[in-house]
Amino acid sequence: MRKYDSKSKKEIVGLNENELMSKIVYNIGRGPQFKTFEPWFDNKDKLKKDDICDCTNGGMKIKWSDYGNNSNGNNYRWFLGREVDPHGNYLIEDRISDDDENYLGSYRSMSSPGIITINVDNIQVFFWSIICELACRQRYIFTREKIEELAYLCIDKTLYHELFHHFIDAQSYIVDGYRYDFDIDEALAVACSRLLVGFESKSNQAYVSDFYELAYSYTSRGYRDWINFKSDEQFLLKLIEYMPIDQRLKNMGQELLPIAEAMLYSIIEKPNVEVKIK
Ligand SMILES: [Zn+2]
Repeated sequence: MRKYDSKSKKEIVGLNENELMSKIVYNIGRGPQFKTFEPWFDNKDKLKKDDICDCTNGGMKIKWSDYGNNSNGNNYRWFLGREVDPHGNYLIEDRISDDDENYLGSYRSMSSPGIITINVDNIQVFFWSIICELACRQRYIFTREKIEELAYLCIDKTLYHELFHHFIDAQSYIVDGYRYDFDIDEALAVACSRLLVGFESKSNQAYVSDFYELAYSYTSRGYRDWINFKSDEQFLLKLIEYMPIDQRLKNMGQELLPIAEAMLYSIIEKPNVEVKIK
């Protein structure tokens, strides 16, 4: 596996990551009636954690609705542990639809094009609750720079997850034998996201790996199984089985991993999707 082509992100997916980051980190763009998070930082650009994080009880001291954020969640654990209905078929439009307001992101199947929805309110709550936990428990001192870096990773996390659903959607038209399986689908989407996000982090520092640790601590059915596919090889082997690629090809001596990998990138880097920000 390798880094996702950043040109694709800008030019094909059409995602303005900068704008999204400012909204998540500074609450910029909600309109003049809502305060930004600028006062959360001191004149040395450090996060004033005691003003916003509730280190005694966990969580945050702020009320999200005061800032124009109407998310139903208030902690990342809530998003990662939600009970989901595995019986629908997400390739049907309403399986993972943008009607479900409690997702960080969603993918609606192609009826030209596919639609990826990024739910900014939910990602904002998800993101800041992780920052506070890291600041309180691990005592990290966060600067604007570090927080912005983590916010980009948080956006990519959701984007790559949804792009994997798009890949499966597209490849189900390529092969005949594909059978939808909720648990595998979600586990592989999380694993794919984690592998690709790993290439995005500029620094290998502890605050980044501790951020990943919390951001990927899924407890929901299916999603939590990603841990079984966290290496390139584990992920691609499961993908071959799930796609599926006819194993006879392997018996004839053909390597299958590069095929699965090339197919994955060929679709997620030139996706037929529209990205909506909600
Ligand atoms: Zn998913």
